[in-house]
Amino acid sequence: MTQPSTLHRLIYCSRQLAETRDWDDHVETVLAVSIRNNRRDGLTGLLLCHGGWFVQALEGPASAVSATYGRILVDPRHHSPQVLVSSPATERAFPQWSMCARRLSPLNAAVIGLLRAGAPFDPRGLDGDDALALLSAVGDLQVAVAA
Ligand code: FAD
Repeated sequence: MTQPSTLHRLIYCSRQLAETRDWDDHVETVLAVSIRNNRRDGLTGLLLCHGGWFVQALEGPASAVSATYGRILVDPRHHSPQVLVSSPATERAFPQWSMCARRLSPLNAAVIGLLRAGAPFDPRGLDGDDALALLSAVGDLQVAVAA
């Protein structure tokens, strides 16, 4: 069993609420609370919002990842969560962000290779390596935009 202080990475995807109209406001609120809490709890990560989906990486002490995911699971702003990765990690993939939220334009999505023959984005089929590669590519995009 993983020790509570061991570095752990969890990546999950979930559906944004279809009826929620003003997502920018919601994501801003989620981000503000996440940055505050994650800084306190030693967590880092990235939240991708794309095509009606959230894909989020959380990394940090196993006990903090577990407690935070427990709160996220019962958040009514999304549904149908599915864990894509949950494993010990040797190092953080997103050390620079307590949390960073990124929405992709169609051009961003094309660059990252998410637009495949017009098929809608569906992260549920991603294996652990692909999920991490996707969020790492989104992180690289975020760094490039901020530079
Ligand atoms: P509080 O200090 O009470 O903060 C809760 C805040 O969220 C308040 O500002 C409240 O107004 C607002 N809020 C709660 N529910 C709703 C709602 N239904 N509609 C609008 N506003 C609402 N939390 C983290 O700590 N770290 C994360 O990385 C993280 N990632 C998230 C990713 C997603 C996709 C979602 C949907 C939520 C995420 N959250 C995250 C938020 C999490 O679900 C909890 O709301 C939050 O952790 C509660 O924090 P708190 O106990 O400090 O409560």
